[in-house]
Amino acid sequence: VALCEAEEAPPAYSRPYDVETRFNWKLFWQFLRPHLLVLGAAIMLALGAALVNVQIPLLLGQLVEIVAKYTRDHMGNFLKESRNLSTYLLILYGLQGLLTFGYLVLLSRIGERMALDMRRALFSNLLRQDIAFFDAKKTGQLVSRLTTDVQEFKSSFKLVISQGLRSCTQVVGCLVSLSMLSTRLTLLLMVAMPSLMGVGTLMGSALRKLSRQCQEQVPEFPPILFSLPLLSALSLLLITNLTSYLLESLQVARATGVADEALGNVRTVRAFAMEQREEERYGAELEASRCKAETLGRGIALFQGLSNIAFNCMVLGTLFIGGSLVAGQQLTGGDLMSFLVASQTVQRSMANLSVLFGQVVRGLSAGARVFEYMTLSPCIPLSGGCCVPREQLRGSIAFHNVSFSYPCRPGFPVLKDFTLTLPPGRIVALVGQSGGGKTTVASLLERFYDPTAGRVTLDGRDLRTLDPSWLRSQVIGFISQEPVLFGTTIMENIRFGKLGASDEEVYAAAREANAHEFITSFPEGYNTVVGERGTTLSGGQKQRLAIARALIKQPAVLILDEATSALDAESERVVQEALDRASTGRTVLVIAHRLSTVRGAHHIVVMAQGCVCEEGTHEELLKKGGLYAELIRRQALGTPPPEAPR
Ligand code: ADP
Ligand code: MG
Repeated sequence: VALCEAEEAPPAYSRPYDVETRFNWKLFWQFLRPHLLVLGAAIMLALGAALVNVQIPLLLGQLVEIVAKYTRDHMGNFLKESRNLSTYLLILYGLQGLLTFGYLVLLSRIGERMALDMRRALFSNLLRQDIAFFDAKKTGQLVSRLTTDVQEFKSSFKLVISQGLRSCTQVVGCLVSLSMLSTRLTLLLMVAMPSLMGVGTLMGSALRKLSRQCQEQVPEFPPILFSLPLLSALSLLLITNLTSYLLESLQVARATGVADEALGNVRTVRAFAMEQREEERYGAELEASRCKAETLGRGIALFQGLSNIAFNCMVLGTLFIGGSLVAGQQLTGGDLMSFLVASQTVQRSMANLSVLFGQVVRGLSAGARVFEYMTLSPCIPLSGGCCVPREQLRGSIAFHNVSFSYPCRPGFPVLKDFTLTLPPGRIVALVGQSGGGKTTVASLLERFYDPTAGRVTLDGRDLRTLDPSWLRSQVIGFISQEPVLFGTTIMENIRFGKLGASDEEVYAAAREANAHEFITSFPEGYNTVVGERGTTLSGGQKQRLAIARALIKQPAVLILDEATSALDAESERVVQEALDRASTGRTVLVIAHRLSTVRGAHHIVVMAQGCVCEEGTHEELLKKGGLYAELIRRQALGTPPPEAPR
């Protein structure tokens, strides 16, 4: 009980039903259009299979009639008389199987191809989104749109076509043959069904309340659906389905969130010896989900048990009433048999339809989530705009009165009237307190964001008029404090900087970055696979690979954002050597925390609270005795500089 109560707290993990976006039919149509022909064929086959299914009970009835005759009379040749009918039935069975095979193959073909197209389109559009978009979203959520949601949508689509068509045709067809067999029985059945459904609806709403208590995320259905007795019976099964699905996905998602976090950050967990606590957390989430799911499970079990009794009673009732009709010679035994089989088909089809209705709701919301980000267009496009030919590029950068606040924190100005010039071929150092906005300056230069006011120029041209892809891939080399490598070979990681670079270019870049030696000392050399995120390398080695990766594009402008601050003294020396070599002849912005690394700069800019507060050479600034001198003094004493005020 305590665990169930603990569940009341807001969930830490994202809920799949958070987003209530509308399903985009237009986009869906675009994905469906290439498959219309195949879809048409699948529909025809499914309809054919359903019609064959309607035929079968009638023929079975005729066969039973013959059997009954021979039970009575024991005369004539049973085999001979039933041969034609049996053969026909066998043919129908075969045909039914063949048609089913056909439409299932076609549907899975359409489903898989549509899923592939959707995943591709979504992935490509996600990759194009602004960096600000990713600041606000969890990657896990985005990935689940690519995987689970597409999967869900695909299976719903397939099910709706196959089961939906079949069930509808069978309900209609069987109702027709029922009324042809015996109008009276059919009418009786039609009277009995709604009353059963009424009871079912009551139970359904009780179940709904129950599941509400466990979990408040059951989507509302339009009340009109509930007012119709037939649809309410359908919604009944759907609710049980839907809630169990919701519970499952939500609860398991929360437990998964815990597991994901612990396994993903296993080093931190290990370092704090928190294994047991994580086990307990995971166990508690699992326990809570079990607790709720069991309560609902009991409700569902009760409902299913009662509905089984009801359906069986209907069979008995049909037999009883139909039997008296047979006794009164108003109906043949065979027709009664046909009637029973056909009415079972109706019931089964109706149950299928109700399950399907739930599936439609699930599919639509999954589809809405998939399509949501497909239509989103970024503010900063990936490409488009002019490029400057390499020979004309001087690499002079200027920030003119730039103000900026992050889109996800609009009221918080990070840069205020910030002005900075990076002359071509010179090294400018940017120093200042942590949180002062230095990395932000680099991000603006990479055009991850656009300034709120003011402009950033390259050779006098506003960055917004230049092609962003060209800017990032050919002009600017960016080396950050925590380099991220991909889980592939060293060769491929360096080549990431310039697609199609030759092996020689890779070696040259590695030499320039002081990396060639350690790479060749590995048994597999350049083909060594660095673990996921490069975990199998030391910090200094990773950084040198990152430098090689940046240098291979021969950038005119190099940004070093605290590139050595995570390294120990020895690695720092090797990396710094590589950086010094790489800096010659380029426009360089060195962002540094450790002031020892900026002494070689031609010009030093000190920033505080989002603007430049002083600049000059090391000596000039020391003489001035301002913030820079203060920072130098503090570092000499070994006290860290204070955090910038928030
Ligand atoms: P520095 O590199 O000088 O340490 P940053 O440029 O990283 O500082 O950060 C400047 C300010 O902007 C900080 O207050 C930080 O909290 C905020 N900030 C940094 N990145 C983001 C982001 N992606 N979204 C919102 N705020 C951010
Ligand atoms: Mg920073």
